[in-house]
Amino acid sequence: MKKLLVGAISAGVIALSLSSPAFATSDKPPAVEAGEVNVYSARKEQLIKPALDKFTEETGIKVNLITGKSDALIKRVALEGESSPADLLITVDAGRLHRAKEEGVLQAAITPDMQNRVPENYRDADNKWVALSMRARVIIYDVNDVKPEELSTYEALTDAKWKNRICIRSSTNIYNQSMVASMISHKGAEATEQWAKGMVNNFARKPTGGDTDQIKAVAAGQCDIAIANTYYLGRLANSSNAEDNKIASKVALFWPNQEDRGTHINVSGIGVTAHAKNKENALKLINFLLSDKVQSWYAEVNNEYPVVAGVELNEVLESWGPFKSDAINLSKLGELNTEAIKVMDRAGWR
Ligand code: FE
Repeated sequence: MKKLLVGAISAGVIALSLSSPAFATSDKPPAVEAGEVNVYSARKEQLIKPALDKFTEETGIKVNLITGKSDALIKRVALEGESSPADLLITVDAGRLHRAKEEGVLQAAITPDMQNRVPENYRDADNKWVALSMRARVIIYDVNDVKPEELSTYEALTDAKWKNRICIRSSTNIYNQSMVASMISHKGAEATEQWAKGMVNNFARKPTGGDTDQIKAVAAGQCDIAIANTYYLGRLANSSNAEDNKIASKVALFWPNQEDRGTHINVSGIGVTAHAKNKENALKLINFLLSDKVQSWYAEVNNEYPVVAGVELNEVLESWGPFKSDAINLSKLGELNTEAIKVMDRAGWR
């Protein structure tokens, strides 16, 4: 993990200085004076609301939260135009953050303070969005049927020995689109299409369900390999449901491409909307979410990695150890999204 975050400034001074200790109750300034901020979030309410409540507690700024699906929220902000009440948009996947930027719903508001907190490849070059958390797209394997020595790279999964053994979700999913986009960026469209064909050739079943379903299919013996985002495994391992823990114990995580470009990663992120009426409060909230204590909490509840250096990981993530991450600028994933969809389509990945 340390290796991964080298280059980021550790524990920088944030614009919003919080005098009270982490998540302690403080005297609330009257909300009327502090004003409010409106957040449209594609993250589930329970994953973001506690942090927003703490923000209100510490600043007196009221947060109005609207949650929904990423693409629907982006469309909504676009349709609302100048009259949009949204000040901030939170979504997952760099591909979607880029989509929001392309739709013109974000403004270049990411400040130098924020840029100092977050590595360059985890934020938009035009300062329209910044990452809040990081996840990796990894190989999950059946501990009984696969030895880690048999694994190496995403590319090697097209080997004939994996015929009928791979489970992965459909090509309509943005995580797969971004993974394929990263490969196009590194290897070109031609080689990526060959790879995608090889993957399809080795599918154990027609793509169905989400990442958790792929992990469950490995645990159930339907396939030996799945590709999934790290937090899905973290969620099962940290679940209070014993059945989930059992599933997690039947599989293990492998970090692909450690000898070359590193494992494909992605982020959740935030941006100030183009017509934000409460821009100052919006910036305060971003700074709050990038503060050490909130980074730690946010990563912990989401089973994700913080984007700010030096912030502690939850135990399960710590147990997976450090890894080399692909240093590609995540904006590329958005830029190559359309091509990635075409490549998967040509390869017969449904
Ligand atoms: Fe997800």
